[in-house]
Amino acid sequence: MNKFKTKKSLGQNFLESSQTIEKIIKLANLTSDSDVIEIGVGSANLTTYLAQSAKRVLGFEIDTSLMPILERKLNDFPNVYITFGDVLKLDLKEEINSKLANFENLTVVANIPYYITSPIIHLLLESGISFKNIILMVQKEVAQRITAKPNTSEYSTLSIYVQEFCDPKLEFIVDKSNFSPAPKVDSAMITLRQHLNQKPLTDVESEMKLVQLAFSNRRKQLKNNLFNLTSDPKKKEQISLLIEELFGNSKIRAQELSLMEYRKLLSKLRENGLW
Ligand code: SAM
Repeated sequence: MNKFKTKKSLGQNFLESSQTIEKIIKLANLTSDSDVIEIGVGSANLTTYLAQSAKRVLGFEIDTSLMPILERKLNDFPNVYITFGDVLKLDLKEEINSKLANFENLTVVANIPYYITSPIIHLLLESGISFKNIILMVQKEVAQRITAKPNTSEYSTLSIYVQEFCDPKLEFIVDKSNFSPAPKVDSAMITLRQHLNQKPLTDVESEMKLVQLAFSNRRKQLKNNLFNLTSDPKKKEQISLLIEELFGNSKIRAQELSLMEYRKLLSKLRENGLW
């Protein structure tokens, strides 16, 4: 690693603690028939461990100045394939199919660049790929938001979005001292296990439109946020009654409803021609 100057703009905080890396490897539960995707290979600190535990590793890295380090460090690992480029601009599915033909037990294990946490999660969850597990290092606060339950201050549109696709779990906190350079915030490992029956993306999109409208002003009551759907006072009254009927309280706020309750609300709004 000597001489390499890390780039803050690319979220280059490399994981230096072998203890934490071993904990991640244990969590990933890889076997000799597992294929792995790693987003943001960096200086391959995690990659070499992944390569020793899995069948194949496909890593993505935007920074071509890491090439010489990676060539040297990965020379002994013929089961590692690196694609240089912006993971958000590549065709992920195509790349996986071509580099990891007939993949099995595909697991994502990555210490992702934090400045693009949300786009990476969208990319993975909307890829149409069935992963065995998605294991990500993210900022601690983001992990708390992703895994939050209703009626907590962390519960947000991101919690509901991720919970549309999977059952997220915060596995353990990783202190900032584990990285070089150390970031300003602590991190956490999360696992995202996809639901067996994935909803069509168009359904998720409609549900998320409602959730976003509901959360447009967190301090307002749900009905007041939904009143933006119409200028007709009669329809506003209908919305209020419908919320009362569904949840026994017309003063409820967005953060009190679960994903299932949002689904019920959307179908009632549709039935009544309000959506
Ligand atoms: N995996 C390494 C580790 O744990 O030490 C590095 C992790 S570091 C937090 C994130 C890595 O993602 C950096 O190497 C950075 O260059 C890379 N990166 C940033 N933006 C990227 C992008 N759009 N596509 C692919 N890689 C990216």
